[in-house]
Amino acid sequence: MDIKVDLHTHTVSSGHAYSTLSENALAASRKGIELLGMTDHGPSMPGAPQLYHFGNLSILPEDLYGVRILPGVEANITNYDGRLDIPIEYLSRMKLVLVGLHEICYPGGTSEQNTKAYTRAMRNPYTDMMVHPGRPQFDMDLELIAHMSAQLNVPVEINNSSLAKEKRGAWDNCRRFARYMVQYKGPVILGSDAHFWDRVGDFSHALELIHEVGVQEHQILNTSPERVLEYLATRRKNRLRIT
Ligand SMILES: [Zn+2]
Ligand SMILES: [Zn+2]
Repeated sequence: MDIKVDLHTHTVSSGHAYSTLSENALAASRKGIELLGMTDHGPSMPGAPQLYHFGNLSILPEDLYGVRILPGVEANITNYDGRLDIPIEYLSRMKLVLVGLHEICYPGGTSEQNTKAYTRAMRNPYTDMMVHPGRPQFDMDLELIAHMSAQLNVPVEINNSSLAKEKRGAWDNCRRFARYMVQYKGPVILGSDAHFWDRVGDFSHALELIHEVGVQEHQILNTSPERVLEYLATRRKNRLRIT
């Protein structure tokens, strides 16, 4: 399976990542990645960029080393209502909005509270894709998330870094989640979640898992840049209808 798009990467701007956008793009071009998401953490994470960073993304070139760049954010969910840590006027101008739960930005809760926070964020018209539901830090109803992903057509990530670290049962969780995605046929993305250039375009563990579970190639959005760009364009059109 050829994955030509890495939607989830971090740069030095995130504070705890160590490569520049140029370094990431060069690494991407060498790995045959054609479309690269630059998704630094939202401002509520310590060390993450402030709103000024997100307000200036339009100065970036569309293309670096032959790789098309999608500047955006990995926004943090900050409460049980699924609130995001970036105002709509910023989100509405971004080319890519990933959303996820992170310990330090979210109080943590019961499985019900975490699931509510996650699925509310999923319903947010400014959310493009959801990331790492399989991280074991937050207990969630993974079946409901897979079901909603299919209903709402919001892609959810199988995160390569979670699997590479194998923190407290990440494989079990991600495997369970992937099985539900097969069952409900929701759209899947694979993300490297690279925090250093050498991990950009690395989907090795995620690919192993989806082969094991039997996720079909057509279910994976980031096999081609065209599919991703078409999805993002449609999402923005629908957003105008809703808001
Ligand atoms: Zn990070
Ligand atoms: Zn994350």
